[in-house]
Amino acid sequence: MTSTHDQLLIAGEFRTAGGDDVVTVLDPATEEAVGTVRAASAVDVGDAVAAAEDASRELRTLDRSARLSLLESLLAAYDDRTDDLVDAVADEIGLPVDYARDVQVATGRVHIERTAAALADFAFERAAGQTRVVMAPIGVAAQITPWNWPLTQIVLKVAPAVATGCASVLKPSEFTPRQSAIFAEIVAASDLPAGSVGMVTGPGPTVGAALVDDPRVGVVSFTGSTRAGKEVAARAATMVKRVALELGGKSAAILLDDADVAGAVPAMIDGCFDNNGQSCDAPTRLLVPRAMMGAAVEAAVAAADRHVVGDPRTDEGVTLGPVINRRQFDHVQRLIGTAIDEGSTPATGGGGRPDGRERGYFVTPTVFADVDPDSTIAIEEVFGPVAAIIGYDTVDEAVDIANSSDYGLAGYVHGEDHDRAVAVAERLDVGQVQINCPEWDADAPFGGRKQSGYGREGGAWGLDDYVEPIALLGDRPRVTG
Ligand code: NAD
Repeated sequence: MTSTHDQLLIAGEFRTAGGDDVVTVLDPATEEAVGTVRAASAVDVGDAVAAAEDASRELRTLDRSARLSLLESLLAAYDDRTDDLVDAVADEIGLPVDYARDVQVATGRVHIERTAAALADFAFERAAGQTRVVMAPIGVAAQITPWNWPLTQIVLKVAPAVATGCASVLKPSEFTPRQSAIFAEIVAASDLPAGSVGMVTGPGPTVGAALVDDPRVGVVSFTGSTRAGKEVAARAATMVKRVALELGGKSAAILLDDADVAGAVPAMIDGCFDNNGQSCDAPTRLLVPRAMMGAAVEAAVAAADRHVVGDPRTDEGVTLGPVINRRQFDHVQRLIGTAIDEGSTPATGGGGRPDGRERGYFVTPTVFADVDPDSTIAIEEVFGPVAAIIGYDTVDEAVDIANSSDYGLAGYVHGEDHDRAVAVAERLDVGQVQINCPEWDADAPFGGRKQSGYGREGGAWGLDDYVEPIALLGDRPRVTG
């Protein structure tokens, strides 16, 4: 049975999309058609922005406690739909139900909660010398999101917009339409004023571009590939729009010579394969001292081989589902092939589907050992369960290799000597470093440098993208305490 996704949320009402384009959505595990997404028309996009502009006038007048109430009602509506969200995440991305519930859906929830906590303390009133500075909402935000962490990415944009008094028009990924359709229903069921969060659907180069081009949009927040992010930034630049970009990554994990190989290496392989190998901040380059290469490869192969590939809905004990679609599958296969052509030998895995699989976008968990840091597999984002282990002789060399990437999203450092590990972490040109597998912290700013983008999401940092300072010379600062 296939489902039709043709409903847009505009001015608080559901409306059938008026565009001509129809995208077919395939189940990644079976390659069977499971739905279609009808694109919004240019008129739909314009109407959604107009409604958002109207709503933004009301939103900016609401005080902090009123906006807090809106976020609380959004959270309550999100909680009411937990089971539906879990099913949609598990089916659309091909993830085990527990992971969909405890990680994907739970993370979205936490981000609404932590954005509310950030709002409670956010300094909208500031002082600069004798001048009062207010942090004013920008107005209408265009928000474009990917399919790999759909709810997290949507919530990381919508919640800060609400918190700061901005209205949003969301253009979610066309590959995960069930999740975004449910999110639109969550918005409609909440107390958010009509038009304050709208949703239009369809392909990025048409619907996303129309949204970015609308002159009433004041800020564009984009999460996705570096390729598309550059196009979005170039379009927005023609109108000097504010842009925040959360893009791709090729993050390095540095194992120092005092690292616990038996603990750190499996943690990094599991991190690389997490979410079916499709997380922007995955540790995909494992940098190990040359003297430890043998032990690291052995531990990495054992960790990779423990993964059970399959369809989590029908197969037992699956830890690794398919990648999202044919384009992604072909991309991963091409990069595995290129790595082999360039002289790398897989220590485990390799090209093609795992044994016994003839359909579905299943990738064989793969580890390349002793990889040349200048080879393609060490440079390009794979976005699949493929890790590259690279040897180094000195810590300076490890830092240089880590920083040689065009990307700069995340980094990982492992070493028993905490201060030494921290000193290495401080030298990485990235937005976030995890030292010795810490607990996740939703309040920590998340975002990149270089071609991983600019701007930060999460907690209080996530609010900054939606406000601009207005300096009121002649008025006295009203900051207290
Ligand atoms: P993608 O760039 O193909 O698509 C992302 C979104 O942008 C989709 O909604 C798509 O429709 C839209 N889009 C595509 N081209 C567009 C254009 N020309 N104009 C306007 N919108 C356009 O990315 P994807 O395949 O959906 O997601 C995977 C990528 O996202 C990976 O590179 C991953 O690293 C990145 N990502 C980054 C973060 C982060 O926080 N840094 C988080 C998740 C994913």
